[in-house]
Amino acid sequence: MSVKWGEKPYFSVDHYLKEKYGHKIYKIAIDGGMTCPNRDGVLDTRGCIFCSKGGSGEFAAPFDREHPSVMNQLDAGKKLIDSKTDESTGFIAYFQPYTNTYAPVDYLERLYREALDYPGCIGLAIGTRPDCLSTPVIALLDKLNDEYEDKFIWVELGLQTIHRHSAIYIRRGYDLPVFEDAVRKLNSISIPVIVHVILGLPGETPEQMYQTIEYLNTFNIFGIKLQLLHVIKDTDLEKDYDERKFEVLSQDEYTDILIKCIEKLSPEIVIHRVTGDGKGDMLVAPLWSKNKKNVLNTLIHTMKERDSYQGKYYETTGFINVI
Ligand code: SF4
Repeated sequence: MSVKWGEKPYFSVDHYLKEKYGHKIYKIAIDGGMTCPNRDGVLDTRGCIFCSKGGSGEFAAPFDREHPSVMNQLDAGKKLIDSKTDESTGFIAYFQPYTNTYAPVDYLERLYREALDYPGCIGLAIGTRPDCLSTPVIALLDKLNDEYEDKFIWVELGLQTIHRHSAIYIRRGYDLPVFEDAVRKLNSISIPVIVHVILGLPGETPEQMYQTIEYLNTFNIFGIKLQLLHVIKDTDLEKDYDERKFEVLSQDEYTDILIKCIEKLSPEIVIHRVTGDGKGDMLVAPLWSKNKKNVLNTLIHTMKERDSYQGKYYETTGFINVI
């Protein structure tokens, strides 16, 4: 089975991009200077319980409010990947921290165009919340998607879980039908959707995590990010962790749960991440996850040992949510 996706027994985004462009594609993280309704007081001021002060996007260069520019950030980001790429190698501009559709539409348009027009940019990945896709924002994405037909625009939605008790605990701030509506809207304008899921949320059983995967199989989504729960410094999650209200997953537990999620996942869905994504010096737990190479190697080794592959136990239930 692994021959299908190169050396990995699952449909990785690296494989997807390599097939499409013939080589590895890097992402450059961009800070669009936005905030989030879960932080600015519209829904809450505390943010999601796990979210770092940087809005879960510490890899982006700091946003310069005096001289807001995507170009400067792309210039800086390009320098970082220059040793690994050449002139012809494209990159993806990843609007990562906070909620990157949460601003006036003319501001968003200026930022997105600046990135799309930058030499070598092959597409955008826009991280946002399902409740921040207003009709004007959808119209803008539709317009740019048509105009830049040789590039792509992906939208990443932070779902994390389908379980209400967990959504309340993490202070997500929206209900499941809002997510479903967002996917429907993005499907209707042919924007590929990537969904973020957290594995290891306090109080969730492995079976509940598998239910989130099985639920997502019923949607027309392009990709998924499977993220290990990270306890980050100076978050409310850290307080609960310090008070021993929950335990983080061990590497063995995570590997096992992750493999079972991948086995249940539709083989058509591209996996964009299989571990956490935070800056090492901010991580409180689980510390074993700092060694990303080891996490990845252990995953692949264990999958091969078990003759495991993406979709091994996928059951077709049909899309219930295609427009
Ligand atoms: S929606 Fe995103 S940026 Fe906003 S608080 Fe939650 S994780 Fe942080």
